[in-house]
Amino acid sequence: HVYSPVVKYGAGVFEGLRGYWNERANEMYVFRLEEHLDRLDYSMRVMRFDAPPTRAVLRDAVLQTLRANKFRSGVHIRLAVYLEGAGELNATGPVGAYCAAQPRTDSVRITEGITAGVASWRRPEDATTPMRVKANANYHNSRLATLEARANGFGAPILLNARGKVSEGPAMCLFMIRDGVVVTPSVTSDILESITRDTVIRLLQDELSVPVVERDVDRSELYAAQELFFCSTAWEVTPIVAVDRLDVGNGKPGDITRRLQDLYFAIARGESNAHAAWRTAVFGTVRT
Ligand code: PMP
Repeated sequence: HVYSPVVKYGAGVFEGLRGYWNERANEMYVFRLEEHLDRLDYSMRVMRFDAPPTRAVLRDAVLQTLRANKFRSGVHIRLAVYLEGAGELNATGPVGAYCAAQPRTDSVRITEGITAGVASWRRPEDATTPMRVKANANYHNSRLATLEARANGFGAPILLNARGKVSEGPAMCLFMIRDGVVVTPSVTSDILESITRDTVIRLLQDELSVPVVERDVDRSELYAAQELFFCSTAWEVTPIVAVDRLDVGNGKPGDITRRLQDLYFAIARGESNAHAAWRTAVFGTVRT
C-alpha cells in the first residue's frame, strides 16, 4: 500500500542469508538458517508486529523458494517481514512477508580485497535507533555512508558510533589484527549482532588458535593494524587492503585473513564436515 508503514517509515525487518552449492554432494546448504530465524524473531519482537509468520512458515519459505527455483549455484536469499497495509506510526499490522533468492557469483573483493574510508556519518546509538534490530530504516544511515565513501573513491565506509569508536561497515562487521591478536568492536558498539561475526570468532579461536578480543576500537588503531577485514553473510570474509588511503600491512590481504577465508568457505560449502549443525541441506532426498 502506498501509505504502508514500510513505505512511509521503513517499518520492516529482514534477513540476508546464503545458500552454498556443493557440486560433489549435488546439494545446497543454507548457512546458519536457524540463527537467522532467531535474529528475525528478535527484530519482529522489537517492532511489535501483530501475528507475524511463525518460525516454521519462515523456515519453509526459504527452503521452498530454493527448491522451486532448482538452483544449482550459490544464492543470496532475502527474507523480509513488514507492515504492508495503510497505517500510521502506531500500526503493528497487517504484516506482509516474502522470501526471494538470486544466484550470486564469487566476488573479486574476496581475492583482491577492497579499500575503506572512515565515514563522516555516525552510526546512531542504541537509545536513538537500535542497530541490533535488522530494520529497513537502519539502511538509510548505511546508504548515506556508502554514497559518501564512493564519492571519495573508497570501496566501502567504516562508521564510527556516537561515542566516536569504530562500529562497523554499512552492512558488515569489522575485524582488526594487531600483533597476532584479533580485535573486533563489542556487541555494545552499535553494531548488528552479526552471525558471520560469531562464526569468525569461533573459527579463529577454536580452529586457528588465534585469540579474539571484543572491545572498543579507536579510529587511529585502524592505521596500526597489520590486517583488517569486513565480514557478513553477503561479504563473507572480505580483506580491507587500505584505510583512509593508508595501506593495511603491505597493501595485500593478510595471512590470517586468507586462512580464515579458506576455513569459512570449506565449512559453508560443506567441503569440510566440521560444524554440520551450521548447514541446512535444501534438497536432501526430495531433489528430482
Ligand atoms: N552489520 C550490518 C549493519 C549488516 O547489515 C549486516 C548484514 N546483515 C552485518 C553487520 C553482518 O551480519 P551477518 O553476518 O549476520 O550477515
